[in-house]
Amino acid sequence: RSAKLIWGGYAMYTGGQEERHTRQLSLMGDLRRAIQQNELQLYCQPKLTMSSRKVCGAEALVRWKHPVYGMIPTTEFIKLAEHAGLITPITNWVLEAAFKQSLAWHEDGIECALSVNLSAHDLRDPELISRIRELFSRFPIPPKTMQFELTESALMEDPASALETLSQLKSLGCKLFIDDFGTGYSSLSYLQKLPVDSVKIDQSFVIPMAESNDSSVIVHSTIELGHNLGLEVVAEGVESKSAWNLLARQGCDVAQGYLISAPFPIGQFKTWETSWTHSLAKMGGN
Ligand code: C2E
Ligand code: MG
Ligand code: MG
Ligand code: MG
Repeated sequence: RSAKLIWGGYAMYTGGQEERHTRQLSLMGDLRRAIQQNELQLYCQPKLTMSSRKVCGAEALVRWKHPVYGMIPTTEFIKLAEHAGLITPITNWVLEAAFKQSLAWHEDGIECALSVNLSAHDLRDPELISRIRELFSRFPIPPKTMQFELTESALMEDPASALETLSQLKSLGCKLFIDDFGTGYSSLSYLQKLPVDSVKIDQSFVIPMAESNDSSVIVHSTIELGHNLGLEVVAEGVESKSAWNLLARQGCDVAQGYLISAPFPIGQFKTWETSWTHSLAKMGGN
């Protein structure tokens, strides 16, 4: 009755509570080894400036290809890693891979911004900033090309230390995004104090916006709120042309989603970007 289904390339488990628990325990054990065994991969997803349709950056997204279970959904193993106290080695692996890629682009004359997702635990890590400093000295890239995404709910777990960490990241010259915006119950007065540059509207509002007037209204007011606070606004989960058109009309600055591209291995970014720029030019640029 409980079967491993392969859906969209991911192994989904349809067992009962107990079996799910067993899988999670076994994954947790394997996660410790995954990093050393080279099972993690860095994927990326492009972001576009809506007005020009030009690439303005990419988001780094980690993947875990388990030798038996195949691709493990990222949200599942990130949650496990948080519970097991294994986020720090994963963050370190992702940071190292992201800096390495950024430096390669830089040396290739590509000034593409890359954003790394940090978790709530990272925000409380007293060594995070010194490690990032060390990465900047080992991989000398322009600070503005390294960016960080922090979910609104991670920021709300410990607002004081989040503010402290964000200020230090900001003073390194990095651009900061509030991720999954609209799901974390932050107050306007707290938001105003955060040294962030951009908000990413959560995909749960963006995906249904073409069909749901409520979602569309929420997205529109979030765009206005962001702009009124002087922030850039990014929509994540842009899956359809109709969502794109609505967002463009509502003044959204940047779009990311399956309509543009699904995430792909970061080594393929240059090829993707070249062919995107090509087709844009053929369409007459703007
Ligand atoms: P996120 O940072 O909000 O990333 C966006 C997620 O939405 C990604 O899922 C992406 O593949 C997916 N997505 C992109 N476009 C679309 C779309 O048009 N429609 C739909 N339905 N989904 C879309 P992914 O890669 O599975 O990552 C899930 C979450 O896991 C991320 O959400 C982020 O919170 C976390 N995560 C991913 N990589 C890392 C990492 O390196 N470190 C940490 N701490 N967390 C990570
Ligand atoms: Mg993100
Ligand atoms: Mg997000
Ligand atoms: Mg999200």
